[in-house]
Amino acid sequence: GFASQSTMPTTASIQLKSSKSDVPTGVFINNEWRESSDSSTFEVLNPATGAVLTQVAHGKAADVDEAVKAARKAFKTTWGKTVGPEERARLLNKLADLMERDIEVLAELESVNGGKGVRIAREMDIADTIGCLRYYAGWAGKVAGETIETTPKTKLAYTLLEPFGVCGQIIPWNYPIGMWGWKVAPALAAGCAIVMKPSELTPLTALYLCNLIAEAGYPAGVFNLVPGLGATAGAAIASHMDIDKVAFTGSVLTGRKIMEAAAKSNLKKVTLELGGKSPVVVFPSADLEQAANWAALGIFFNSGQDCTAGSRLFVHEDVHDKFVELLVQKAQACAIGNPLDEKTSFGPLISAQQRDKVLSYVESGVSEGATLATGGKKWNADGNEGFFIEPTVLSNCKPSFKCVQEEIFGPVASVLKFSSEEEVLELANSSIYGLGAGVFTNDAKQAMRVSGELSAGTVWVNSYNLLSNAVPFGGMRQSGMGRELGLAGIKEYLAVKSVHHNLGEDLEWPL
Ligand code: NAD
Repeated sequence: GFASQSTMPTTASIQLKSSKSDVPTGVFINNEWRESSDSSTFEVLNPATGAVLTQVAHGKAADVDEAVKAARKAFKTTWGKTVGPEERARLLNKLADLMERDIEVLAELESVNGGKGVRIAREMDIADTIGCLRYYAGWAGKVAGETIETTPKTKLAYTLLEPFGVCGQIIPWNYPIGMWGWKVAPALAAGCAIVMKPSELTPLTALYLCNLIAEAGYPAGVFNLVPGLGATAGAAIASHMDIDKVAFTGSVLTGRKIMEAAAKSNLKKVTLELGGKSPVVVFPSADLEQAANWAALGIFFNSGQDCTAGSRLFVHEDVHDKFVELLVQKAQACAIGNPLDEKTSFGPLISAQQRDKVLSYVESGVSEGATLATGGKKWNADGNEGFFIEPTVLSNCKPSFKCVQEEIFGPVASVLKFSSEEEVLELANSSIYGLGAGVFTNDAKQAMRVSGELSAGTVWVNSYNLLSNAVPFGGMRQSGMGRELGLAGIKEYLAVKSVHHNLGEDLEWPL
């Protein structure tokens, strides 16, 4: 294994809160580190300061190919042939133990590279990811096929759920560890082998975790990481002829490219978790203070860089003005600041480009007639150079506004007024997306009716945005296909094989 090697070809010393951490920056194949095939690298920034953190190996098609060969070999020999479900469960729990041991380094790395408040990273992102590993450890070997009665009776028919094979996994920057966990845990519990590409913006925790995977004792080749850009390493995964499935989280545009690449290569199975423009509906009977708290979580959490961000807020005319006032208070109370500060809840956006895109949506909303109730500017206290932006509320929005139609992926709430349940359902459901939706009401019948009618993969009633590892998550329409988390999540990594076993019927020939 790599641990006995005296030198890793590439390691960066990253300054954290009070210590430095050595983070590998290479390509991870067969539990060993290497440079990329052409020795090229790309830059990784700290979004809170704009400073360069390190260079990371830029994996290309040749690196992806090596990684696939390693994964295939592990799948055909060690991992796929000799490692049973108890051992897969033990390894996942061991990996979770190692993450618990190193939680402080992981939280600070996630904070420095992703711009998250370190407390939020520790207590939410990483705690949930550890929970996800343990949750799927519990499923290893417990998702089984069935025996099926047939005519004639002289046949034993049964199904086997077999690991899908070598899986490509391509993840985004908004929840670097979270998306790593949602991909890795069910795939390893199912017995698949992995070639993963982290986002080029946030590869550091995924790189660090490779050493924990090796330390946990996974056989070489089970997990391989090829850092790189979408157009290089990502595209090579999507079009590879020996990858059986690709799981992707990111934008609709990229999801389309991945399906296309899969269609044009080997028709690999594709699961997609894409964007959203999720509606949140507030009725007059709702507890307005609570609705405003949850709505604020829905749109300001992770600085709005959240696929389920509750970005279209539909508020009944009777409570509209009061609700907007409360939401403005919540926006102004957000603890933005240096991500490494324990008090900080929300940090910067991931890049200058992302910040500018978000600000341009605010501008377009105002020019179309929205009222800027709060926020709308860069937030650069103490002259910091980071990509911060103020939590923003745009009220008096109309359904046709660009800020209401398109995913912004920033801390910008667009508020619209409605007068009837029928009207709001029509408005809420008229989106190309269908990822999340929320409804606030104290009328139980209305809650049932409206949650039934809202067209989304996840509906929250009197809450928003909190998930559970045990509950499936995914989108309708252009928000994606397939499900992650829960029993549904591991099934995406299992193939159904049907066996018809003849127990004595002779075939007369000719027919
Ligand atoms: P993105 O699509 O640009 O990138 C996501 C990943 O895909 C990155 O690793 C990137 O390198 C890779 N990629 C880019 N082009 C590629 C290509 N041609 N072939 C293969 N891979 C390629 O998205 P992003 O900007 O990183 O993330 C933001 C988007 O992701 C938002 O639209 C958001 O809604 C969505 N998102 C969805 C979920 C979900 O669960 N549904 C979760 C997080 C983010």
